[in-house]
Amino acid sequence: MKYVIGNWKSNQNLTESLIWLENIKSLCPRLPKDITVILCLPFTDIAAFNSKLSEINLPLITGAQNVSHLPPGKHTGEINAHMLSELVSYCLVGHSERRRDFKETCVDVAQKAKALLENTITPIICLDTPYLDEQIKELFRFDVDVSKCFFVYEPLAAIGTGKPQNPNSANIIAHQIDFLIDNVSPILYGGSVTSDNANSYVSQNQIDGVLVGTDSLDPAEFCSIIQSLS
Ligand code: PEP
Repeated sequence: MKYVIGNWKSNQNLTESLIWLENIKSLCPRLPKDITVILCLPFTDIAAFNSKLSEINLPLITGAQNVSHLPPGKHTGEINAHMLSELVSYCLVGHSERRRDFKETCVDVAQKAKALLENTITPIICLDTPYLDEQIKELFRFDVDVSKCFFVYEPLAAIGTGKPQNPNSANIIAHQIDFLIDNVSPILYGGSVTSDNANSYVSQNQIDGVLVGTDSLDPAEFCSIIQSLS
């Protein structure tokens, strides 16, 4: 199985999201069977997006972009894994923008991954080389079952810059992640992926898919990325 994951970040209100969905339905009416497509949406879009998806019968899977590390309780404004469990099957954790702008630590990420698994949501854990060992060590310290997680190698220099990493170098890091987790979990690459380069990553022996930020917002480009892999 190959994976294409879209990360919309803090973009698209509900009206815009539903227009995106209509467009993708007409551009990509049938998604290839060997590709799982997951869209990590803003919290505010997920419920209505799910209803529309079942109405139009498009096998897209929804995910979230973040989750609280805390359990249900007196934590004003937090969205926890229990709340998300009725809405999504996947959730990003540890994106470098959250580490940079919200000071998320490897411990926070391990706690979030644990909370997600306890609520049967698959964590999609974003990694870069400066904290690769530390992050994976924390996952083991918190008893996170890494065989139930997805991992994404996202080099900081490639995110949102239009400067993707060389696919061979990305594959070497993907091998390193595979060695450290010592398990069979999907490992993806993210960072300036487009329809022109997506297949050069997925054709590497250790890379199972791509995480797409900027180009997931454009339905035509996102559809081309999916089709480029089939
Ligand atoms: C991302 O932010 O996860 C990402 C991969 O962004 P972009 O595709 O824009 O580089």
